[in-house]
Amino acid sequence: MRVAGKVVIVTGAGRGQAGAEARLLAEEGARVIGVDLDPSPAEPLPGVEYARLDVTDAAGWSALVSGLDRVDGLVANAGITWRARLGEVDPDDLARVHDVNVGGVVRAIQAVLPVMPAGGSIVTVGSVAALTGHYPVAYTASKWSLRGLTRAACLELGARGIRVNAVHPGYIETPMTASAPAAFREANIAETPLRRTGTVDEVAPLVVFLLSDDASFITGAEIPVDGGLTAHGGVKSISDTLRKGF
Ligand code: NAD
Repeated sequence: MRVAGKVVIVTGAGRGQAGAEARLLAEEGARVIGVDLDPSPAEPLPGVEYARLDVTDAAGWSALVSGLDRVDGLVANAGITWRARLGEVDPDDLARVHDVNVGGVVRAIQAVLPVMPAGGSIVTVGSVAALTGHYPVAYTASKWSLRGLTRAACLELGARGIRVNAVHPGYIETPMTASAPAAFREANIAETPLRRTGTVDEVAPLVVFLLSDDASFITGAEIPVDGGLTAHGGVKSISDTLRKGF
């Protein structure tokens, strides 16, 4: 019961990683409010209060938070991808992706801050795209921007005793990655030292830890959950080519 008694909002909780995070947070004793575009979650979320909310809707955020005495935790997970490459990306799509992946997080933080006490914890969900030169340019630019936002929020909110950390998932099996070509999955596995993809249940425990008081001196951290994909800096193919034995 690492987050017993805490009130936590999880965005994008209708499916994928945030669904698993909302479930685990509820199991660990939190009062969890899961929000998403969809009117109901794709799978049952036992113990989770669920509400429809577009994270880009500032008025919607105000209405949600006005019904809460306090918010101890925020998991700013909701995000969208857009796989256009540099030569073909439309500036409108660049702006749209940025508005959800960065603007949605700004609005979430602004909404919860008035009722977030000292000891509060915010977790942003970046990506390995935020640590590399990943090919979907709108998505990659938005996730690098989110890193900057996370660092600035860490600085700004430290004086209030509020922590802000980022997790950077690698290829996790969710509806988002299921929408990519099969070759994308195979290429990710080829670049991943653990030689497999990850699951939502391998991200959720880290998020719970960062929201808990066990992480009370951790802020401004960026933690990849990627099977080592970003650790080798692009030299895995050299290692694989020259490897003898196992
Ligand atoms: P997903 O597409 O399976 O789920 C995302 C959820 O966010 C959906 O339920 C969607 O409806 C919701 N959402 C999207 N826009 C929203 C909005 N404007 N307001 C409210 N909800 C909104 O994605 P996922 O794979 O679970 O990814 C979750 C987060 O992790 C995203 O930020 C994504 O960029 C990031 N990420 C995912 C992977 C991966 O491999 N799956 C890797 C790196 C980073």
